[in-house]
Amino acid sequence: MSSEHHFYDHALETAGRDERLRLQDEKLRRLASVIAGNPFYRQKIALNGFNLAGRGLADLARIPFTTKADLAEEQRAFPPFGRLLTYPPSRYPYVHQTSGTGGNPLMWLDTADDWETWVRCWGYVYRAAGLRERDVAFFAFSFGPYVSHWAALDGARRLGVRCLPGGGMSSLQRVQAILNQNATVVLSTPTYALRLAEVARENGLDLVSSAVRVAIHAGEPGASVPHVRSCIEEAWGASCFDHAGATELGAWGFECEAHPGAIHLNEAEFIFEVIDHATGAPSPPGEPGELVATALGRAGMPAVRYRTGDIVLVDREPCPCGRTFALARGGVLGRADDMLIVRGVNVYPAAVDDLVRSHIGAAEYELEIRRVGGLDELLLNIEAPDAATLDQVARTIHQRLNIRVGVRQVPAGSLPRYELKARRYKRVE
Ligand SMILES: [Zn+2]
Repeated sequence: MSSEHHFYDHALETAGRDERLRLQDEKLRRLASVIAGNPFYRQKIALNGFNLAGRGLADLARIPFTTKADLAEEQRAFPPFGRLLTYPPSRYPYVHQTSGTGGNPLMWLDTADDWETWVRCWGYVYRAAGLRERDVAFFAFSFGPYVSHWAALDGARRLGVRCLPGGGMSSLQRVQAILNQNATVVLSTPTYALRLAEVARENGLDLVSSAVRVAIHAGEPGASVPHVRSCIEEAWGASCFDHAGATELGAWGFECEAHPGAIHLNEAEFIFEVIDHATGAPSPPGEPGELVATALGRAGMPAVRYRTGDIVLVDREPCPCGRTFALARGGVLGRADDMLIVRGVNVYPAAVDDLVRSHIGAAEYELEIRRVGGLDELLLNIEAPDAATLDQVARTIHQRLNIRVGVRQVPAGSLPRYELKARRYKRVE
């Protein structure tokens, strides 16, 4: 199971606790000394009255958290890049931007060294999924200005994988390219993997007997949700691997072969903390909380104690793969902002997703959320084959999550299809 070629850096991935902490401390001290001159962090830390230079793990908690809103406010107040750069702008050959969902897009710059961090992080993702030089990877991404798409491509090229960028193509063209080029690996969001399978079926094309053996997903929690995962694996005849990342950090988590449905936290490249989303206090062990990450390899546009908004449940049970990196059980459980409160019960959309998929497989659905008197009421619109399926969905959700949801049958093909992140959860007035 734990064959060497499934590791990117065997020594780092299997280091014992003391060695891991020593390495993190060393990398943090180096980073802190460089970014002590970064205007944004200098100002942030001055508030706490100490100098960042040479600070290590013992002082990490004295540095205030950084949020996406902080970064956005910087770029609004000091356009175009904010005071976020450690070096003069001429040192940054890479510039990308976020999609700007829920606000203005964030400009993100990388130095040549910072870009190598992206490439390394993807190396961990790919090696854990068993990628080798003879693989052919198809990237079912739009590319555009999104850093993760370009970094994913570069990371795979660096391992000697032949890479087919699939930007600017229709879904059918992508399916045809995957088949014609004998792609062995496909990268996409989980939703879009299901969409490609649907398009293949509509056009009489067979993905199950294609050369694709690995599907790598991110962008939404799906690939760690058991019933989404089984739908994708069935539709493609391939093994699914989840990974997690953020523009501000890099690809921070990845799945190994030995532990489906969990994500290893890359503790060679990041320091992780888990906090209570509401109070910011450390979460008790065994409790889910918001993931906070410090990117150890990014000095040019640093992310120190960055609040990801991702809810995770982290534990340090040993993984059969041999890695000592902590595991986030169930991957990213949801976004802190997405949590629903239904009759006083906290529910993440991923939990609803899993139960709906257990009945409808890959069929499309949508969850309407209506806030009534401070509580969320849910209505599922489902492209269900019959009324009996609707009843089963409602019953299962009631039994498992202890909440009642409305269900409504809608015609097959009537709901939107997604290429990037799905927007299945709709708040309505
Ligand atoms: Zn593992």
